[in-house]
Order: sequence, then C-alpha cells, then structure tokens
Amino acid sequence: MNPTVHIEDTPVRAFAYHEIHNLTVNDVYCITPELFLQHLWTMRDSVSENIQSLMITFDDGHYSNFRFAAPLLEFAALHGHFFLPSTWIGQRSGFMSWQDVRELAARGHRIGSHSATHAFLPSCSPTAMYEELAGSRFALEDQLGMSVTSISMPGGRWNEEVLRACAMAGYETVYTSEPGFYRPAINMDELRTPAVIGRFAIQRRTSLRAISGYSSGDRMTVRRIHSMYQARNSVKRLLGDQAYQRLWSHLFRATPN
Ligand SMILES: [Zn+2]
Repeated sequence: MNPTVHIEDTPVRAFAYHEIHNLTVNDVYCITPELFLQHLWTMRDSVSENIQSLMITFDDGHYSNFRFAAPLLEFAALHGHFFLPSTWIGQRSGFMSWQDVRELAARGHRIGSHSATHAFLPSCSPTAMYEELAGSRFALEDQLGMSVTSISMPGGRWNEEVLRACAMAGYETVYTSEPGFYRPAINMDELRTPAVIGRFAIQRRTSLRAISGYSSGDRMTVRRIHSMYQARNSVKRLLGDQAYQRLWSHLFRATPN
C-alpha cells in the first residue's frame, strides 16, 4: 500500500509562512501584515465548515511572527504553529527571544522545533542529527516547560533516515515543504514513525485564488501547486544544492526556506 496520500483526500490544509513584515524586505517569502490578513480571511471563507483543518505554520522564528503574525491570527480567531531553530532564539537580531516564545505559547499558539541550527538534516552525521533533533526538543521543552512533539524540516529536506531519527527523538509530527503531501504515522521495524504533513510555502506572489483552492482541497489547485513544487525540485536536483541556492539568491535575493 502506498502510504502517501494527497491533501484533497485528507482534512489537513497546512501553510508555511516565513517573515510577515511591513518593511520592504527583498525576500519572496516575506509578505506584509495586510496581505497576511487577507490570506487568513480567504482561508477561513474557503474552509468555513471545518476550521480545525487549517494549519498556519511559520518557520525560522522571525521577530515579525511575534510582532505581526500572532496578533493578526488572534484577530481572525486562529492559532499559529511556530517552528524555531532552538539555537537562534535570543541569539540573533531580528529573531524572537525566549520571552517572546513563552508568550506565544501562553497565548495558545503551538511551538515546534525547526532543528537546533537549521542544518539540512539528510547531510548530518548521526551525532549531529541527534543534537539537531533531540537537542532542540530538550532545549525548547526546558525553556517552555511543556512538551514539544512537532518539527519542521529545515530547507524542506528529509528522507527515511531522518524520519526514523525524528521518531527516536520523540517527535509525533513532521512538517515538510511539499504541498499537498500527507503520510499518516506508520509502524516501521517496531518504531512508530511520525505523521508527515506537507505544507504549501507561501510567497509574496502567491494568489488568493491558489490559497482559496488549497484551503478547500480543490484537486486541480492542489495538483497544480504540487507540480510546480516538483518542477522546482527537479531544477534543484539538476543543479545541486549550492548552485541552486546561488541561482535562487541571484534571482530573488532570498534563501530557499
Ligand atoms: Zn527554515
């Protein structure tokens, strides 16, 4: 049995955001608070009868997530799921402090890991992988005083080995950047692997129509978004990671998430 299914058949509609900022940041993943609010209303309208299926997630822990995204989510009566590289918190300018993260959790938002240092996990040694997965979880749990069972994959990179390591590090849910992708938790060699939830990574130019179609699980939209993702991945494989990143930053002045 193929353990992967697409999102139109599941109740999961997960979106991945990065920076929400009203300054003109030259990054294709950075969107303004006004546009973000439009996205939220569009999602709400499209899934009106099943609001629980919406998962609005944020990677990297930008301070603008705390400053703009959280209040707007609350205004729209929604909650966010924030994935943070544990060693960046309180250490990098423009990113959240531990106090900010604790406040987000206290306001009912979910906190997950985005590894410890934002390393691409498939290229980590077993020792480094342990530090990235279990280390980041322990750091977050220590600081927040609550259990952390979800993680999103830095750069969207993962494989079976990473998934197995996530299971051993105590994660129940793994979020990727593959739109429309969903794989329920499965038993693998007596180890229960986490559920894998794909996400639609939102860019500044993403249309409201695409957001609406994805939210409602419209098959045509989900497939179109998924094939665009696959096309981009083929270019990545063809060029190799480093050349792809150079090309990407040259074209869009951004780091692939
Ligand atoms: Zn990231």
